[in-house]
Amino acid sequence: MNIITIPAGSNCYLVSQGEEHLMIDAGAPGMGAKIERTLVQHQIAMEQIRYLVLTHGHSDHIGNAALFQKKYGIPIVVHENDVALINNPFSQEMQATHPIGKTIIWVGKGSMKRNPPQPFTPDLIITEPATNRLGFGETIHPLPGHTRGSMAISFPTGELFVGDIFMNMINPHPAYLWEDQATLQKSIRAVRQLHTKTIYYGHGRPTPSRTRSDF
Ligand SMILES: [Zn+2]
Repeated sequence: MNIITIPAGSNCYLVSQGEEHLMIDAGAPGMGAKIERTLVQHQIAMEQIRYLVLTHGHSDHIGNAALFQKKYGIPIVVHENDVALINNPFSQEMQATHPIGKTIIWVGKGSMKRNPPQPFTPDLIITEPATNRLGFGETIHPLPGHTRGSMAISFPTGELFVGDIFMNMINPHPAYLWEDQATLQKSIRAVRQLHTKTIYYGHGRPTPSRTRSDF
């Protein structure tokens, strides 16, 4: 499995198994051209991407989903509990206690007002854990708390994409902000119990699961 990471306000990932490609998250609004350019450099045509899976509905992760769906016909996969968030970025109130979390909320509100993501209609809605639904051997784990519809995606080869359930801004750390803290705690415990080799974050560089000292 090959993984390309494209920093785009949040990490946009392209997971490839041979000629089959899966995109995980779509970057922040306005970063579409950078994502397209990077994939051209890797000789990957956007039309070849089978699915775009959104780990959750925050605007810095869904910013170019509407563009990619419309321009290239890429089907979009989301959890049902974040569909309302996609249509209205202010529909889930976020909370934080850590200064980093408070800053993210403050900065995020400003940028969502200035540059909101284009709305879109998802093509595939996830309601429960699912394995190989997209044909990559992947397992989709609904893990709410950061948002109501947050999901992680794992692969049999040991890669785990956690979206914003954990963030690696300074070091690996549970989400600094949440829609529901108690639910997030439960999801964090569930992530710790998954057998994985490498964790890929929505923000920051990947880490081997073993060294996740803050987990
Ligand atoms: Zn988020």
